[in-house]
Amino acid sequence: METYQNFDTSLGRVSKIFFFLIYIMSKIFLSITKDKLKKQQEKIKKQLAEISNRSKRKGGYSYEAKFPEYGRSEDENANEVADFADSISLGKSLENSLAETELALKKIVSNQYGICEICKKKINLQRLGILPTARYCLNCKNNKKNGA
Ligand SMILES: [Zn+2]
Repeated sequence: METYQNFDTSLGRVSKIFFFLIYIMSKIFLSITKDKLKKQQEKIKKQLAEISNRSKRKGGYSYEAKFPEYGRSEDENANEVADFADSISLGKSLENSLAETELALKKIVSNQYGICEICKKKINLQRLGILPTARYCLNCKNNKKNGA
């Protein structure tokens, strides 16, 4: 009986240590992810600043693509228009990435990070490692894509 009890308490200790390790690892994972997201946020902001003018608006900032000035010739004007169009589409995709990044950072603060927005289950850590801004688990993402 005594040996059984000993076994029982040591099992309890092992599982405590096990859960403690998982807890520590998830804390480490979160802090690495937070770092990654902050760096990404800074990078996107820099890129946006290069191609657009930032102006304050309700709830955040809006970005307007800068119109380039190369010169007065027809060729130069055509290039200006082409690059302006590129800036607009690049700016849009950068703005989207910035919003996703900031959303992920907010979720870390509010303890919602890594939880699928649709099924509320935990998103696979491997997926989050590859795509730190993932909002859905792979299942829900595939369902969404298939229009289900
Ligand atoms: Zn899901």
